[in-house]
Amino acid sequence: MTEKAATGAVDPDIKDAMEGYERFRQQFERDKAFYQRLAAKKQKPKLLWIGCCDSRVIPSQITQADPGELFEIRNIANCVPPAGADDDSVGAAIEYALRHLGVDDIVVCGHTGCGGIQALLEPIPPGEEAHLGRWVALTRPAHDLMTAARIDGEGRLNATIAAHIQFQLDNLMTYDIVRKGVAEGKVGIHGWLYDMETGDVIVYDRDKGAWRNLIETTAG
Ligand SMILES: [Zn+2]
Repeated sequence: MTEKAATGAVDPDIKDAMEGYERFRQQFERDKAFYQRLAAKKQKPKLLWIGCCDSRVIPSQITQADPGELFEIRNIANCVPPAGADDDSVGAAIEYALRHLGVDDIVVCGHTGCGGIQALLEPIPPGEEAHLGRWVALTRPAHDLMTAARIDGEGRLNATIAAHIQFQLDNLMTYDIVRKGVAEGKVGIHGWLYDMETGDVIVYDRDKGAWRNLIETTAG
């Protein structure tokens, strides 16, 4: 962390954000009719996106979604705590998206090299970072599966990341509103894994229990 200067000079990180905002204002003026239409109507997003906080994995960039199209939950390691767990923020957003916004597709998107998954492989000193420690414990089932399957070495992290996405799809099904929606064929749940190096997205096919390329899925 850099020392915050008290000289009155604008911190360069904030300066970047302010300059970005200035460019956004110009774009807003150009597309004013679009933004005003958005503001005048109730939001009607197409997808509930549950993704990681990672600054390199941008939902609207990956999907090329416009404002108004994605209802997003982002947290460390794209976790869906099981219904009734101590965290209400994810469950609240799920219920709101499905019941009030009429969203009928949920994407849980993880990514290669996820630090939130990696975190459990490194000891967190007891008494420090208690919130982080409790949160990343949500990735425990995927880690335990890797240990049980004796998956080690270089491929372990990304295999854990993929397994974690599958567990989050299972956790989605612990919410009544999701389980009912899926059973009635009204709600679709999708596991995506974004490869930060190649830009590829692979998707999990819950019926076949296998991963495949998103592009092939779209084409076929
Ligand atoms: Zn991540």
